[in-house]
Amino acid sequence: MIKKKELEIFLSTLKDFESPKENLEQWSTPPDIAAEILFIAYSAGDINDRIIADLGAGTGILGIGAAILGAKKVFCVEIDPNAYCIALENLEKAKRIFDNIDIVFLNMDVRNFSKRVDVVIMNPPFGLEKSTRHADVIFLRKAFEIADKIYSLHHFSNKSRRYLINLARNNGFKGSILRTFHIPLKARKEKHRKERLIIPVDFYVFEKEY
Ligand code: SAH
Repeated sequence: MIKKKELEIFLSTLKDFESPKENLEQWSTPPDIAAEILFIAYSAGDINDRIIADLGAGTGILGIGAAILGAKKVFCVEIDPNAYCIALENLEKAKRIFDNIDIVFLNMDVRNFSKRVDVVIMNPPFGLEKSTRHADVIFLRKAFEIADKIYSLHHFSNKSRRYLINLARNNGFKGSILRTFHIPLKARKEKHRKERLIIPVDFYVFEKEY
């Protein structure tokens, strides 16, 4: 069994977005946080032998990590063809090192994905840009539709906490926050170019209530 630090080191060798697109909110999960959240899901029995979807997979860091930790199959769904191509390269790299990596990358809009899975693990767009407003809600609604258990990263604010927990309740899910991370993002906007922004991000688990 791979250790958390080893997983983090491998994930840090994967290729990142070449020229991240602001209108798609392409911020990749840092390798240490990816390894941390994947091990949390693994420890809860939600990765090994499970069918998993990574929605808005980007360059594949979460989906590939889940496959390395023993997922039965992973569906990575990504709308951007550039990110999709990088993800395929990353997949080849993982396959050269690890056995039994079973991942399908789908270059499509998450709204058109309708496969039923056991677990969703995702870092979706946060819906902070004008062009992506409420993108996080679109992703969550899709996740509620296709899985009974969801692990997901969302931008922190008190308002969004209330909103997301309520949204979950209205869809028959109980939501709780497992961790809050502070993720450094390289500023892309001209006016922020010299800064490094630290974004507070909540890591949620949503479980279907019966
Ligand atoms: N999950 C990756 C990427 C996070 S950035 C990681 O953790 O590193 C969010 C990703 O969602 C971007 O790659 C963006 O292109 C993708 N995305 C945005 N809207 C989408 C949509 N409607 N359907 C599928 N993917 C989308």
